[in-house]
Amino acid sequence: MTYKTVTLKRGKEKSLERFHPWVFSGAIAAADDTIEEGDLVTVYAHDGTLIGNGHSQIGSIAVRMLTFDDTAVDEAFYVKRLQEAYRVRESLGLRREDNNAFRLVHGEGDFLPGLVVDIYGPTAVMQAHSPGMHFARNIIAQALVKLPGVRNVYYKSETTLPYKAHLDPVNDYIVGSMETDEALENGLRFHVDWLKGQKTGFFVDQRENRCLLERYSRGRKVLNMFCYTGGFSVYALRGGAELVHSVDSSAKAVRLTEDNVALNFDSVAVNHEAFAEDAFKFLDNMEPEAYDLVVLDPPAFAKHQSALRNALVGYRRLNAKALEKMPHGSILFTFSCSQAVSKEQFRLAVFSAAAQTHRKVRILHQLTQPADHPINIFHPEGEYLKGLVLYVE
Ligand code: SAH
Repeated sequence: MTYKTVTLKRGKEKSLERFHPWVFSGAIAAADDTIEEGDLVTVYAHDGTLIGNGHSQIGSIAVRMLTFDDTAVDEAFYVKRLQEAYRVRESLGLRREDNNAFRLVHGEGDFLPGLVVDIYGPTAVMQAHSPGMHFARNIIAQALVKLPGVRNVYYKSETTLPYKAHLDPVNDYIVGSMETDEALENGLRFHVDWLKGQKTGFFVDQRENRCLLERYSRGRKVLNMFCYTGGFSVYALRGGAELVHSVDSSAKAVRLTEDNVALNFDSVAVNHEAFAEDAFKFLDNMEPEAYDLVVLDPPAFAKHQSALRNALVGYRRLNAKALEKMPHGSILFTFSCSQAVSKEQFRLAVFSAAAQTHRKVRILHQLTQPADHPINIFHPEGEYLKGLVLYVE
């Protein structure tokens, strides 16, 4: 297969030889002038050595590499990559009788830059983050339904593709249709709203951290701040929490949480309430010592490096507001999903919050994203979720 060509400047092949999956625009010496955004291109070193094939893009990342040899990027390629991704999830034990929600493709972490696929029972929800993946959506969908148990593919890229590419993607089923909106995570049932919800409809990346919270929940008064679908709330209730309060500024999220609590428990038997309120306001107005187990899982405060400073201030303020009112012996689960914020920076923001509120705090656990969100070792940018579990005296 011959693709359009891109030739790198001298020395710019080094990071690609280490399998870093991006070619930056500044590294390019020459390119076919017929290349259009999303085209498949073959990348060559300055001396003419073939490096691999990738999707072209306009912007600072000019090519996202898909192969590091001359393998064609066709249907067989996607079938193979997706089968490899599936095999990894199978070996992680994520496709079980009591668990059918997991991430199948995590972009660069699965050697498919620009593609995210989450599985909810028989349905794959697919997001393209690059024009190249958008153009490949139909063959990817056909490859997905070759995987065991996958019958429907919903394409959801209206908000993930570069705006300037003018691709006008439409969110819709490429294969199949709505079969069930229910998914199972560790034996708990969740409605997943991929039609209208955020991202692919559910945050599978918190699965293991929710399990950990369950273990701390017995007899505790739990506040699940930024609850979205109520994942942490449902685990806390199963863990024997005395009371769970869920808060989200979105009324839709509050309804989703209530629905998911009702899906798992007899509402008379559990002590749960959900509030549609701003987190900062709720924390300002709450009674001191009202909760002895608090979850703070806000949306990404820094979507880009430019917002980093403000994001760190945001994390400090948020954590300080919670720490200030937590009783002796309480536990805080605090997270950042901003890729631009490093583990060290997040820890420093939480440190500042503890110092500012004069709370004696110990780190019990340092949390991260689960194994179905793998990090390509040559692409450390893929590490985004950070969490700390703190014991507050
Ligand atoms: N903890 C969730 C994921 C949280 S996503 C889970 O385990 O699935 C972040 C959530 O924060 C979104 O639902 C969003 O509606 C909510 N949110 C954003 N800004 C907020 C604010 N200022 N106050 C309260 N909730 C907010």
